[in-house]
Amino acid sequence: EFARSMSTALDSSKLKITKTTSPKAKLPNEQLVFGKSFTDHMLTIEWTAESGWGTPEIKPYGNFSLDPSSCVFHYAFELFEGLKAYKDKKGEIRMFRPDKNMERMNKSAARICLPTFESEELIKLIGELLKVDQGFIPDTRGYSLYLRPTLIGTTAGLGVSSPDRALLFVIASPVGPYYKTGFKAVKLEATDYATRAWPGGVGDNKLGANYAPCIKPQLEAASRGYQQNLWLFGPEKNVTEVGTMNFFAVFKDASGKKELVTAPLDGTILEGVTRDSILQLARERLDPAEWTISERYCTINEISSKSKSGELVEAFGAGTAAVVSPIKEIGYRDSTIDVPLLPGEQFGPLTKQVADWIAEIQYGVVESEWSRVV
Ligand code: PMP
Repeated sequence: EFARSMSTALDSSKLKITKTTSPKAKLPNEQLVFGKSFTDHMLTIEWTAESGWGTPEIKPYGNFSLDPSSCVFHYAFELFEGLKAYKDKKGEIRMFRPDKNMERMNKSAARICLPTFESEELIKLIGELLKVDQGFIPDTRGYSLYLRPTLIGTTAGLGVSSPDRALLFVIASPVGPYYKTGFKAVKLEATDYATRAWPGGVGDNKLGANYAPCIKPQLEAASRGYQQNLWLFGPEKNVTEVGTMNFFAVFKDASGKKELVTAPLDGTILEGVTRDSILQLARERLDPAEWTISERYCTINEISSKSKSGELVEAFGAGTAAVVSPIKEIGYRDSTIDVPLLPGEQFGPLTKQVADWIAEIQYGVVESEWSRVV
């Protein structure tokens, strides 16, 4: 602890920039595939237990050279973030709530004994990367630059212990709208034979180790014709998340009162920035005479019975990639739970409303402190 407190803090003013001598050709918007092409540069910062954070560097995107015994390869000392940068109408670069991602990244780092850092310094450094690679940020609505801050342990040696070397890097990928032709409501399969996260576990941290085990249930859902799986938890079968998104449902009772429901932050869900944004906007902007906004447990049986009684009026996933993803059907054991959509549409009214609210902030159409100009 003493050694760490004496070590050098992350300092954006030390940034060293080396520009590429072989710039890549930029892909036309319609050829962008999520996370497949990257900008010309990346940000890297090394850390050691003896001296703390080293010189931040922006340099040409390229391979790393790591010892095969590096702890990241053996014991999953890895965590990451996902956030987006946008170009507004005036050509200004904006980031959506980067402070929330930095807070979550530091929480993930602390949990697996990787070094924490000064959030505002990393935000400034990411801002510099965005300026260097600004030609890669699409300026069309719906398009953005996906940022992937990552932190790995690089200590060489097979002993399982707290890493004394680490590498923080940020890469960036230009991306298009999640649904190229507007919303496309998805079919989910409820997974009750595998558990993504549990109280006291690490599912509320963005550790790479949480993601690899989720692919198999997703493939199984896909083999039965579902686009994603719906994660349930515990003997009560609480609905927790949709693939890698937070889950929201809208209920409407006989008197016309509506409830927006999402799972509480009890360690069994990732604390999504989109989730938090939706809750805050809903509390600010929806009429409290008509709406209750609830962070509470909701079981798959409640969803099923409210679907049958007509009280389930909408359901959607929420995350950085798609913002919101409307749900039209949930397969659970031998039954099918139907979720209504607006007639002739691929979404319900609140799903659309929430997507618009957030996009207007992200693209700077509506001024908000959530949208930070670089
Ligand atoms: N849950 C999981 C498991 C996720 O990986 C993500 C994506 N980070 C989310 C929810 C949504 O989080 P956010 O809104 O911060 O993208």
